[in-house]
Amino acid sequence: MTARTRVAVIGAGQAGLAAAFHLRRAGFEPGRDYMVLDRNPGPGGAWQHMWHSLRLFSPAEHSSLPGRRMPPSRDGFPTAGHVRDYLADYEQHYGLPVRHGVTVDAVRAAGRTGPLEVHTDRGMLLADTVLSATGSWDRPFRPHYPGMRDFRGRQLHARDYRDPAEFAGHSVVVVGGGNSAAQILAEVSTVARTTWVTRRPPRFMPDDVDGRVLFQVATRRIAARAAGTADSAGPLGDIVMVPSVLDARDRGALVAHPPLLRIVPDGVVGADGGVVVADTIIWCTGFRPALHHLAPLRPARDGDHPAVDGTRLVSDPRLHLLGHGDWTGPASATLIGVGRTARDAVARLVAAPTSA
Ligand code: FAD
Repeated sequence: MTARTRVAVIGAGQAGLAAAFHLRRAGFEPGRDYMVLDRNPGPGGAWQHMWHSLRLFSPAEHSSLPGRRMPPSRDGFPTAGHVRDYLADYEQHYGLPVRHGVTVDAVRAAGRTGPLEVHTDRGMLLADTVLSATGSWDRPFRPHYPGMRDFRGRQLHARDYRDPAEFAGHSVVVVGGGNSAAQILAEVSTVARTTWVTRRPPRFMPDDVDGRVLFQVATRRIAARAAGTADSAGPLGDIVMVPSVLDARDRGALVAHPPLLRIVPDGVVGADGGVVVADTIIWCTGFRPALHHLAPLRPARDGDHPAVDGTRLVSDPRLHLLGHGDWTGPASATLIGVGRTARDAVARLVAAPTSA
């Protein structure tokens, strides 16, 4: 049976929940005027899948969604489990109408006006507006290197990493220059021989910089953009010095090597042509937005992502994209930043509905 709603939110991670919070606050009736569809059987978005030791780069008091503070975490930077529990509580506390275990296969437009069709594995929903907040966890990215397929050891993406114990005594190559790479390297290097490979020299933040400062920088950038003035915030670096990374630095484990030339059956060939024998390669090479379900809309492109005006698709203003980073709003791929993106998207759809 086909149901109808004013707003369908796809994804119940932090971006989808922040949007649902603002819809509720704007007076939309949960379950009737809006609903949230999420593929995961349980709450927490991507956080429920992340590795055990992962630490946020921002303290709990600077990682909250709108309306409800994240409780303090016992020992400094929160774990992924702490965030999962916070999102589960958030969903329940506000009675957000999330339907877990529902996968959206495709969003289609029957015409240039009227509702969008949201096709799911449980049937079809018609929605005047769709807020797509599907994150990137379902689309890990691995760069291509010659010889990758011939490698006899194990290759895994950071998405599939759990804990260091299984690498004890191994020779492990960690590829990537961001926080995931630095945190995984930091703990794997306590039990294994590690080689760290980065595309460019890693950029470490000052020891006292965390997510709070990053958010302040993003806020200054917004203000500068709005005022049409130059952005005075210089680059801060990529890697936040959480305790495990500081410890690795003190052990001398944070030595980065330039990009690989190729992969051979028993290891990797470094930039100097030397072979590093390896059992395992961990690709900490990031993610891409999970947007396959939007393919039928054929969104107009702006470089490597759909073209948006604010959060609205330029080629179809009935659809908004949330939580994908600066192109969907400054810091919108972070816990603390996505609330602002969600608030603006909801304000806009209330002010200018796009469908009869
Ligand atoms: P997700 O959490 O991925 O939620 C999307 C939801 O949509 C999922 O539940 C998924 O099942 C669902 N979904 C996807 N496709 C469909 C579909 N077709 N149909 C139905 N449901 C679907 N941010 C910080 O603020 N601080 C940090 O310290 C921090 N550290 C990070 C460390 C790592 C390793 C990573 C990967 C990210 C980190 N981030 C951090 C960034 C950011 O907070 C996360 O990427 C965040 O999970 C994005 O939230 P989201 O709601 O956009 O997406």
